[in-house]
Amino acid sequence: MPGTPAVPTRADLVSLPSYVPGRTVPGAIKLASNEVPGGPLPSVAAAIAQAAALVNRYPDLGAQALVSRLSRELDVPEQRIAVGCGSVSLCQQIVQALCEPGEEALFAWRSFEAYPIVTQVANANSVRVPLTDAHVHDLDAMLAAITPRTKVVFVCNPNNPTGTVVRRAELVRFLDAVPSNVLVVLDEAYHEFVTDPDVPDGMEFARERSNVVVVRTFSKAYGLAGLRVGYAAGPEYVVDAVRKVYVAFSVNALAQAAAIASLDAAGELLERCKEIVGERVRVRDSLLAAGFEVPETQANFVWLPLGERALEFSEHAMDHKIVVRPFAGDGVRVTIGTPAENDQFLEVARSFRR
Ligand SMILES: *Cc1c(COP(=O)(O)O)cnc(C)c1O
Repeated sequence: MPGTPAVPTRADLVSLPSYVPGRTVPGAIKLASNEVPGGPLPSVAAAIAQAAALVNRYPDLGAQALVSRLSRELDVPEQRIAVGCGSVSLCQQIVQALCEPGEEALFAWRSFEAYPIVTQVANANSVRVPLTDAHVHDLDAMLAAITPRTKVVFVCNPNNPTGTVVRRAELVRFLDAVPSNVLVVLDEAYHEFVTDPDVPDGMEFARERSNVVVVRTFSKAYGLAGLRVGYAAGPEYVVDAVRKVYVAFSVNALAQAAAIASLDAAGELLERCKEIVGERVRVRDSLLAAGFEVPETQANFVWLPLGERALEFSEHAMDHKIVVRPFAGDGVRVTIGTPAENDQFLEVARSFRR
C-alpha cells in the first residue's frame, strides 16, 4: 500500500534489513535453516498434544516449571535464567534492556544475521568486526573495537554461518580483557553439536562472571524450531532486565511443555545429534575432496566461502531441488540433513561448474 502513511512510522525502519528465512519449496530438500531433519519424538508430540487441550488458558508467564527444570540441568539458580520466544527474542531483549539509544552492540561479521536487526530494532547501533581469513571470530580486533559506547558484544560459538569456533584459551583471554561494564553474550545455539573438547561450555563463564550471559535454544538440537523457545543464563541483574522487556506470554504453553519433554528425552535427542555430527564430517570431507574450501565446522551445517559465486551455487542447487542458504557475495551455508539428503546435495555440489 504505497503513499504517505497517515501516521509516520520510524524513519530508520526503511533501512532495517529484513530477516531472510530459508526458503521452503514444495518437493525440494530444505537445507537452508539449520533445522534437524527428524520430527518430534512420540513423547514430545504427546506432551504437545496434552498441552493443546488447555490452550484456552494463558501460559505460565514465568514458565516456572521450565525455568526450574533448566536450573537443575544447568546448575544455575532459577533467578539467573530467563526464557524467551526463541533465542532471537532473547538477543533482542538483551540489547533492549542494556543499550541506551545510540549505544553499541558489537559482533563479528559475517555472523548471525539477526544481530544487526535486533540491534536496530532496539535503537542501538551495530559495529561489525570482520572475521579472520580463516572465517573465525577475530577476538583481538573485537577487543580493539570496544569503545565507551559499547554495551553488548555478541560472540556466536560456533559461529553461524561459518561453523567455526573460538576455543577456551582465546575466549578466556578475551573475557579477561573485556571491560567489566560491557556484557558479553555467548550465543551457543549450536552447543549440542560441538565435539571439540577445547571449545568451552559457556555456562561455566555465565555462572561465575558478572558480565557474561549465555543464550541457547530448543530450535536446533532439540528440534523445536516451530515452537519458539530458548533461554538465557547469566548474572541476576541481566536476567532481571531481560525479563522486564519480555513480551508477556510470548513463550506459549505448547512450547513450555515441549521444552520440558525434550529435556526428558535429551538422551535420545542428543543421540540423533551424533548422527548429524557423523554426517557433518562425511559431508565436509567429500566437499574438500571435490575441491571446495570448507572451514572446519562444529555445528550442524557447512560453509562454502564461494564469494561472488554464492548465488550461482544456490541457483544450481535449486535447479536440482535442493534449497541452501546463500549470502550474496560471501558464501553459502548448507545444513546437514539425512544421509540420503546429504548424498543428493553432494552430487549437486560436485556438478557445480568451477
Ligand atoms: C538459530 C539460531 C538462534 C536461535 O534461534 P531461535 O529459533 O530464535 O531460538 C540463535 N542464534 C543463532 C546463531 C542461531 O543460528
